[in-house]
Amino acid sequence: MAGDAFGFVDPMLPPGVFLALRSADLMADGLAPLLARREIPSPEQLDRVLAAYARVQNAMRSRWLELAAYF
Ligand SMILES: Cc1cc2nc3c(=O)[nH]c(=O)nc-3n(C[C@H](O)[C@H](O)[C@H](O)COP(=O)(O)OP(=O)(O)OC[C@H]3O[C@@H](n4cnc5c(N)ncnc54)[C@H](O)[C@@H]3O)c2cc1C
Repeated sequence: MAGDAFGFVDPMLPPGVFLALRSADLMADGLAPLLARREIPSPEQLDRVLAAYARVQNAMRSRWLELAAYF
């Protein structure tokens, strides 16, 4: 999942479009090396890439949630 489907922050602050675009960017960066091999990735390979993506996206989202809570 990417963007709001991954996690919504708060429309009062402007991270939504940034997080949506950045999530697509991060996922594409992670998947591109697998696609370049021109073979169907194994579930373990996909899991590794998507888990790394989810860690980064969750960390960014947590920081924005912290800022929203502060406001
Ligand atoms: C009132 C309000 C104000 C906001 N103000 C800001 C702001 O000032 N700055 C900012 O950065 N962010 C703002 N946001 C947040 C921002 O709009 C979202 O974070 C951003 O649009 C998320 O992008 P997305 O692509 O993940 O989801 P979306 O933009 O919601 O796109 C999802 C798309 O998928 C489509 N879709 C849904 N289900 C299906 C389906 N089954 N099949 C095919 N298509 C489907 C929908 O029609 C939609 O077009 C605001 C949000 C709200 C509600």
